[in-house]
Amino acid sequence: MKYIGAHVSASGGVFNAPLNAKAIGAKAFALFTKNQRQWVAKPLEKETINLFKKNLEIAEILPKHVLAHDSYLINLGHPEEEKRQKSLDAFIDEVQRCEQLGLDRLNFHPGSHLKQLSTEQCLERISQSMNETLEKTKDVSLVIENTAGQGSNLGFDFTHLGYLIDNSIDKSRVGVCIDTCHMFTAGYDIRTREAYDKTWNEFDDIIGFEYLKGMHLNDSKPELGSRVDRHDSLGKGKIGLDAFDLIMNDDRIDDIPMVLETIDDSIWAEEIKLLYSFVK
Ligand SMILES: [Zn+2]
Ligand SMILES: [Zn+2]
Repeated sequence: MKYIGAHVSASGGVFNAPLNAKAIGAKAFALFTKNQRQWVAKPLEKETINLFKKNLEIAEILPKHVLAHDSYLINLGHPEEEKRQKSLDAFIDEVQRCEQLGLDRLNFHPGSHLKQLSTEQCLERISQSMNETLEKTKDVSLVIENTAGQGSNLGFDFTHLGYLIDNSIDKSRVGVCIDTCHMFTAGYDIRTREAYDKTWNEFDDIIGFEYLKGMHLNDSKPELGSRVDRHDSLGKGKIGLDAFDLIMNDDRIDDIPMVLETIDDSIWAEEIKLLYSFVK
């Protein structure tokens, strides 16, 4: 069974997100639990938490089908120790906010070496930050998102994600979120049956479907392998609809939140309907 939704607005309070999801016919959603462009946020109040849980029930969405996304400012692999620590503190706070909301997974971008570290050194720092977070928190899984590999962002190669999982001190609390736009622009083709199978076989060898805890369903404005991160509406970009048809009929991708981050939120309800119409 597929659980499709979108990254909905939480403006006015996180408790609005489930209702925004329900309004577009979503069975899953993503949200920011704080302003994604600021370092600190005031703690969640008890009333806010209760209302969030109540609205999840109203929307008939299970906590495991909600994929919180962390702040864009956080870089767990920052070359400067002081800045890595600042990121780590903010990240732990994000995990704790998920705990409070009763959510079991937090999606994050691995980090960037800012041309000051090698890929290996940066991955080691990210891994260390993840392990410190796992030690200081409970219940929430750290879900690493694959990236397009723009600038010095790591996580574009499946081996980066594989490394972070292999080096985790608690494999029951780590996973990955595959963003189709990022996957494609990082050079992994999914446009035909053949390309789709090749890419996901590689994924299964290096990472494993048991670690797939979420997906971002986006078409791509840039070409295959361009390493540029620009999303497009489904069927309007370079990936095309066949890939999404294959995904919707792939039973290795069941029971996880699958969310749109496509550029036109006025057609999210239609995109969700379109995706469900592919199921054979
Ligand atoms: Zn993301
Ligand atoms: Zn994404």
